Amino acid sequence: MGFDTTNVVDLNDAPKSAIEFAVTTALGMTDVVGNTQINRTQISVGKSEHFLWNKDGQIEFDKDDRSTIAQTGVHETLHELGLGHLDKETLKDPKNIVQAHPIGTVVTPQQRSTIIKNVEEQQKTE
Ligand SMILES: [Zn+2]
Repeated sequence: MGFDTTNVVDLNDAPKSAIEFAVTTALGMTDVVGNTQINRTQISVGKSEHFLWNKDGQIEFDKDDRSTIAQTGVHETLHELGLGHLDKETLKDPKNIVQAHPIGTVVTPQQRSTIIKNVEEQQKTE
């Protein structure tokens, strides 16, 4: 299990130690922040020390695992749509889901407008 960092732009020029840190601590990764048309998101479904396997060989997620995975999926999708950890709008609320270590579910109306604008602009160029 692990992330394929080959096309993760934020890690392109990162030192090896930063890549290793990201691979071992990140819950998700998006190849290109802000590319709403062609992109890839990877989500870690669990950390090995938390894995519990049932008799059918499936990972047994608990309620918190499921919630975290769903939150990570939304967080990474919002990166694809152009929102960043350090955006002014993200930093307004510690419970904003685009925070670097998200603990909340907040997406602001301004962020929604930004997403719509990004998608519409990128569709025009295709
Ligand atoms: Zn992020």
